[in-house]
Amino acid sequence: MRKNIVAGNWKMNTDLAETQDLISGLKKIAKTSNAEVIIAPPFVNLYSAFESVKGLDITVAAQNMHQSDSGAFTGEISASMLKSIGVNTVILGHSERRAFFNEKEDLLAEKVNTALENDMTVIYCFGEELKDRKFSEHFEVVHKQISNALFHLDASAWENIVLAYEPVWAIGTGETASPDQAQEMHAYIRKTIADEYSENVAEKVTILYGGSVKPNNAEEIFSKPDVDGGLIGGASLKAEDFMAIVNAF
Ligand code: 13P
Repeated sequence: MRKNIVAGNWKMNTDLAETQDLISGLKKIAKTSNAEVIIAPPFVNLYSAFESVKGLDITVAAQNMHQSDSGAFTGEISASMLKSIGVNTVILGHSERRAFFNEKEDLLAEKVNTALENDMTVIYCFGEELKDRKFSEHFEVVHKQISNALFHLDASAWENIVLAYEPVWAIGTGETASPDQAQEMHAYIRKTIADEYSENVAEKVTILYGGSVKPNNAEEIFSKPDVDGGLIGGASLKAEDFMAIVNAF
C-alpha cells in the first residue's frame, strides 16, 4: 500500500504570528484522516513550526533548498541546515521556482541528489502549461520533467520520492483539472515509472495532485485510483479548509 499525503505549500505567506495561528487551528481539528499531513511554511518560520507541531501528526517540510552543502551562496539554505532543525522533507521543482527563479531540470536533478544524500524525502513537482495541453503535448512535457530530474536514480531511491503533478494552468486560478484529467495523467505517470523501473516501484510511489484543490472538490479528486493525495496552496492557509481537505480521505 502506498501512502496518502495531503501537503500544504504555504508559499510566501504567513509571518511568525500567522504561522502559530494556523498551526493552532490545525491542532483544534480532530484527526480522522487516513492521510499523512505535511505543512511547508516559509524558511524563517520552519523552526518555530517544527517546535509547534511536536506531539501532532504533522510533518514540517521546506519549500526549496540549495544543491550545495555550504559555501558562498548568499541568501541560500542547505539540506544540512534544514536537517539540523528537524526538517527532513523538501519540495523541489515547484512551477513557481521554475518560472520565476529559472530552475531547470539539470539543477533540480542536483537538488534531488543532495536531498537524498542527506536522507531527506523529496516532493518533486512538475506539470504542463496551458499551451502544452492545447497542443496535446502535456504527456511529453511531463515525461521530460520526470525523466530529466529523476531517471538517473536507482530504484531504491524512489522510496524517498513523492511526485506532485501540478498543471500550471490550474495553480491559483480556481480552475482545477477535472478528476478524470488528473486520473489520466497520474496513470500515465505511474506507467512511465513502471516502464523505466518496475511495476513494484510504480505501485509504491505516491503521486499527489495540485492545483486549486478545495474542500468542495478534494473528495472527488482523491477518489481516483492513481491520485494519492494533494499539494494544496491557497486552501492550506485556512485551517478549516485544509483540515476539510485532509479529512476528504
Ligand atoms: P493552489 O492550491 O493555490 O492552486 O496552489 C497549488 C500549488 O501550487 C501547491 O504547490
